[in-house]
Amino acid sequence: MAAAWQDVVRDAVAVREAAAVAVDAALLAGVLMRTGEQPNASDVVNYAPFTLLPSAVPRALFEQAYAVQQDFNLLVDAVSQNKEFLEQTLASTIKVDDFTARLFRIYTQVLEEGLAQTVVLGINRSDYMFDCGLDGTAALRQIEINTIAASFGGLTSRTTDVHRLVLKVLGKSEEASQLLPNNPAKGLALGIAKAWELYGSQRAVVMFLVEEVQRNIFDQRCVENELWNRNIRVVRKRFQDVFEQGSLDASRRLYMDGQEVAVVYYREGYMPQIYNEQNWEARLLLERSRAVKCPDIATQLAGTKKVQQELSRPGTLEKLLPGHPEAIARIRATFAGLYSLDEGEEGDRIAATAIADPDRFVLKPQREGGGNNLYGEELREVLEKIKDSPERTSYILMDKIKPQPALNYLLRAHSPLQASKCISELGIFGVYVRQGQELVLNQAPGHLLRTKAIEHADGGVAAGVAVLDTPYLV
Ligand code: ADP
Ligand code: MG
Repeated sequence: MAAAWQDVVRDAVAVREAAAVAVDAALLAGVLMRTGEQPNASDVVNYAPFTLLPSAVPRALFEQAYAVQQDFNLLVDAVSQNKEFLEQTLASTIKVDDFTARLFRIYTQVLEEGLAQTVVLGINRSDYMFDCGLDGTAALRQIEINTIAASFGGLTSRTTDVHRLVLKVLGKSEEASQLLPNNPAKGLALGIAKAWELYGSQRAVVMFLVEEVQRNIFDQRCVENELWNRNIRVVRKRFQDVFEQGSLDASRRLYMDGQEVAVVYYREGYMPQIYNEQNWEARLLLERSRAVKCPDIATQLAGTKKVQQELSRPGTLEKLLPGHPEAIARIRATFAGLYSLDEGEEGDRIAATAIADPDRFVLKPQREGGGNNLYGEELREVLEKIKDSPERTSYILMDKIKPQPALNYLLRAHSPLQASKCISELGIFGVYVRQGQELVLNQAPGHLLRTKAIEHADGGVAAGVAVLDTPYLV
């Protein structure tokens, strides 16, 4: 699997030439990011980091990941509607994790008041790595499922053309023609448009809830522009704007300075640091409103690491998806080993195992966005410190996935061109719309491949570690 471009990857002259073409092609195609210096202006922008070469991905695993996506949509939707399961699963976590507790409080509050909207829109991305077994065969293993602000569906729609060109420059036209078309942004917009339509007001807008620091705006613009093309109005607002301009009428319709909002699409709101008291108030206002929330707070909670770990317990999927044995089998086949650190014997045992052999595991808190997990020595130290305290329960443990590395070049502005040993993470986008009890849309509209150098244990393009890539199926 690693050997796809063996002949060219060491040819320094060819690589240098191809890299120059690649960077210009990325700029032309709109694979863009704002700069760290000017994150909120588009006067000077740069290309988003990407690989020179597409990475080899085993075709069977790629197809497996697509085949299970609609099942994952069903599962996330089922979890989000199961109050008892969310309550039980998160009970230990919310005792020690303030952020999850605060989200959970809003969840309880809106349920008590009664939901003002029966239309649900889910956009998620299920991420996988290819675990290399002792015999050299690779297996698809889910890393996590992102149920809020799953990004890069826009930029990844544009990287395929860049890689196609690079392969041609390197004399590989035949391989270039095999790269699959991929346009998740279009599919995400389709889901948002469907929810907007079901909301049922021509005048109402779609509101992108965006960050204070908006480096990744071009990725979002890809989705926005798809909506404009459908004659759906889009506004971009921050939590602060919602606090200042947002209000509900008697039937809990959401207005921003008099403008009715049909759909709130969160590209923000998953990190504790961004919530001051005003932003929490804004979040509550949005959740109480009649606007379709993507995701609603229940679906955000369904994406926590703790829920992921509980889903892997024998019998849980059967309870959540009764009558879907085939979907359950497909879902379960992608699970890595996941372990609860709740207080008690089971948690004690796995904590001791991980302290003795930290390289077998990843220690994960209830956080999103990259850079939060613990590995190796650090995992051992932290676990050693918290193993007898309730704080332990704010984490879960997961088997560490060990993919086979391949050589590639990571193209990043202002960075030298050098070969790196890399591993990749495949994400499949999911989108679904439910009206009451009827699922009216359930799709897997595209994929994302991200690749990082093996020196980095953790990932994330926005976190500055991984870069955009395109799968080359082998
Ligand atoms: P986040 O919500 O921060 O994105 P993830 O669970 O996706 O959290 O972990 C972040 C990164 O850490 C992943 O992109 C991957 O590179 C690495 N990682 C996470 N879990 C594992 C694992 N079980 N084995 C190997 N690497 C992992
Ligand atoms: Mg992740």
